Amino acid sequence: MTAANGTSVSIQDLSLNFGVISVLQTLNLDVAEGEFIVLLGPSGCGKSTLLNCIAGLLDISEGRIFIKGKNVTWEEPKDRGIGMVFQSYALYPQMTVEKNLSFGLRVAGIPKDDIAKRIARAAEILQIEPLLQRKPAALSGGQRQRVAIGRALVRDVDVFLFDEPLSNLDAKLRAELRVEIKLLHRKLQNTMIYVTHDQIEAMTLADRIAVMKGGVIQQLDAPQTIYNRPVNRFVAGFLGSPA
Ligand code: ADP
Ligand code: MG
Repeated sequence: MTAANGTSVSIQDLSLNFGVISVLQTLNLDVAEGEFIVLLGPSGCGKSTLLNCIAGLLDISEGRIFIKGKNVTWEEPKDRGIGMVFQSYALYPQMTVEKNLSFGLRVAGIPKDDIAKRIARAAEILQIEPLLQRKPAALSGGQRQRVAIGRALVRDVDVFLFDEPLSNLDAKLRAELRVEIKLLHRKLQNTMIYVTHDQIEAMTLADRIAVMKGGVIQQLDAPQTIYNRPVNRFVAGFLGSPA
């Protein structure tokens, strides 16, 4: 966490229904500035839905979302100051890596020399300088995911949202990129909200883990606390100490 330590993302009494099905139920979550929060839970528990609500990709049924103190509940995704990295890389196949990184910035009217600086910085941080003139088809899975992270990085956002960014990678790459994401967070000190169903990822990355089940946060605590003092059987079974 940063020294400032204000609230970065505040989710208040958020509910989301798909038709008659309640997917998120009166959910509350305050994320501190610079904090690394992991949303952990089994498939179908509502992790992606919650992330998409924060990103503004889904309209919520009830409640409010604040980012840096501003009510963004009805703001467009592009106006929320967030960058999102998905499980599938969602790169433009016909564009080079450099164009993939610059595209959104050009659309937003950012000056050319500023774009060049941002790309150079992101490429250095993510070690993708040698790949800038390649197209996505000529990249490995890990390289593509670095570029996908780079696209969030060049936008200079306060909050990064990750939806299972490593789940398409093999175990070795997953472990490598896990370390890189941790280092990236140390370097940028920005707020990260990271969705996964992988307990090891959650334990190694998180300042705090929100364990979810059925659209409800069961426990929100530091990894060691959750491991040593799970609040219920579900959390214990999912992540608790084997003792
Ligand atoms: P997770 O990311 O934790 O695996 P999701 O957020 O994707 O879970 O989904 C939570 C629940 O909402 C699931 O039961 C899923 O079937 C349901 N759901 C997700 N998207 C839709 C949709 N567009 N319409 C109806 N139900 C949906
Ligand atoms: Mg999901």
